[in-house]
Amino acid sequence: MQLRSRELIRAGRTLAFVPTMGFLHEGHLALMHEGRQRADILVASIYVNPAQFAPGEDFETYPRDMATDARLARTVPVDILFTPDDRAIYGDGCQTYVTPQDLANRMCGLSRPIFFRGVATVVTKLFHMVNPHIALFGEKDFQQLAIIRRMVKDLNFQVKIVGVPTVREPDGLAMSSRNAYLKPNQRQAALSLSRSLRQAQRLVAAGETRAVNLIEATAAMICLFPDTVIDYIVIVDTETLEDVDVIDRPVRMAMAVKVGTTRLIDNMPLTP
Ligand code: AMP
Repeated sequence: MQLRSRELIRAGRTLAFVPTMGFLHEGHLALMHEGRQRADILVASIYVNPAQFAPGEDFETYPRDMATDARLARTVPVDILFTPDDRAIYGDGCQTYVTPQDLANRMCGLSRPIFFRGVATVVTKLFHMVNPHIALFGEKDFQQLAIIRRMVKDLNFQVKIVGVPTVREPDGLAMSSRNAYLKPNQRQAALSLSRSLRQAQRLVAAGETRAVNLIEATAAMICLFPDTVIDYIVIVDTETLEDVDVIDRPVRMAMAVKVGTTRLIDNMPLTP
């Protein structure tokens, strides 16, 4: 991959890169189409990164379907589908990690303490392998996007990070490879995330500006759906991810909710 990318860059081509864990859906494809528009060569990777799963999480059962993924990638089309194995990424172990600080010590970082270290480390390694001019990440993983932007700035990577809006099912559910875990009766409860976020947007449009009231209304709505357990609901600054008390500028509402054993995340902008 490194040799190929060096050749392409020497020939004057620009590279766009979309890292994924596979089991591709329309959300991934939106990132790829955006990358296709913005550079000469589109590289996508599929790698289920063990370093971002804690023991007891779903690394072993994470859905995988390389044949379908390859077919979907061809429809974009992706020029290079990079599918490294564990040996290529971690060789005989890894002694050096990239550990994001404050941005990773809240929201998803509280229930998944090693997650963002795993993400930042693998994205660093993939960036060094692919050497892209631009890389595309989904707003669906809003905290991840903020952390990657900050990492690129802090560590002087020469790559432009592009965020792509969340792609949703017709009923509002944010697309996710993990939606495959939802049993038919849980699929309805999974709508609690997008429905309650939309309700918060409506409340803001109607003049509500206090974060505590918005969070309370959001939690109340989620609790109406069966089989839901709230991990967190926050309203944060889009860059620092620090809590906001009063909605006096565009901010982000983000949440994680467990539906049965499946942990789902979602977020939407709140604009006064
Ligand atoms: P994953 O395979 O879940 O690690 O996701 C790979 C990339 O796709 C990340 O940048 C995600 O934020 C992005 N992504 C996942 N789901 C969606 C979605 N529904 N809409 C937009 N981007 C997404």
